[in-house]
Amino acid sequence: MHADQYNPAQQEVVTLLGAPPEARPEFDPSLRDELRSHLEDRLEPLAQHIRADSFDDDNLFLSKYTLTQVLGCEQKFLADRSEPFAWSSPTARGTVMHKAIELSVHWRGESSPLVLVDEAMASLANAEKSIGDYLTTCGESERAELRAGTGAAMTQFLECFPPLKAAWRPATESPIRASLHDGLIVLSGKPDLTLGQPDGTVAGKVIIDFKTGGFSPTHREDLRFYALLEALRVLPPRLLATYYLDQGRIHSEEVTHDLLLAACERVVDGAHRYVELVGGARQPGVAPGPSCRWCPVQLDCDEGTEYLEGAYDAGPGGW
Ligand code: SF4
Repeated sequence: MHADQYNPAQQEVVTLLGAPPEARPEFDPSLRDELRSHLEDRLEPLAQHIRADSFDDDNLFLSKYTLTQVLGCEQKFLADRSEPFAWSSPTARGTVMHKAIELSVHWRGESSPLVLVDEAMASLANAEKSIGDYLTTCGESERAELRAGTGAAMTQFLECFPPLKAAWRPATESPIRASLHDGLIVLSGKPDLTLGQPDGTVAGKVIIDFKTGGFSPTHREDLRFYALLEALRVLPPRLLATYYLDQGRIHSEEVTHDLLLAACERVVDGAHRYVELVGGARQPGVAPGPSCRWCPVQLDCDEGTEYLEGAYDAGPGGW
């Protein structure tokens, strides 16, 4: 597509995400070792705890989701943890969407959102994964709800995001993992989309997460966690971006040494909280906020109920 064929929303993304080689940051090649040793030093007490068999599991596994949960409302974190994960239309939407985006990169000719969604659902249904079981056994109304919700998000994506070119090296849901203390502590993430790659010690990758709904500070923290994982793996990305599909807006942040150190501290804080709470070393605290709306223990939580009543009284802006 020619530059002047982009609509204004697409042009904004192209302008922000594109950067000439001379504008890209360079990182010291020793940074990955520096960050690893910093993290391992700060996590040594937890590693000793796991080695001494004082932890229920063989290792401590921290994903982006777990970190956000444990650093949010601790009471909700423990309540969610006690419920086994189950696929549903809302939980499957992201996975179907990412598959549809992946297909759109290689699709020949015009693509329509619902065709991509249907192909994505068919492909996932044949995969030997738990989502395959869900897609082949869910009821017709649930399937229709999933198709409609993902189709709407895909329409927004194709409208607002520039068509992805293979030369940009797009990768969807590509797993990144860091194994610390010989696997006793594992950090893991799967960014929605990455573009570009490093060139020697010059950063070139952009990490993008897609969101529906409004801004939350946790969105920025999620991306900083991915930046840390990439820095531990090869080299930090050069840019982090959250794309708000229903607003057609992008929030971005450049990756710096200080940002990576802050991401390390958040991991250390989350890891300690996780071990304390799961091991029952202290009582969980509550932190009322928007997530009270889908909290499984909200009816028994005075603080959450009070928060929701206040948000409801404040009218649409409060929601
Ligand atoms: S209702 Fe809100 S404050 Fe209460 S436990 Fe749930 S998330 Fe926490």
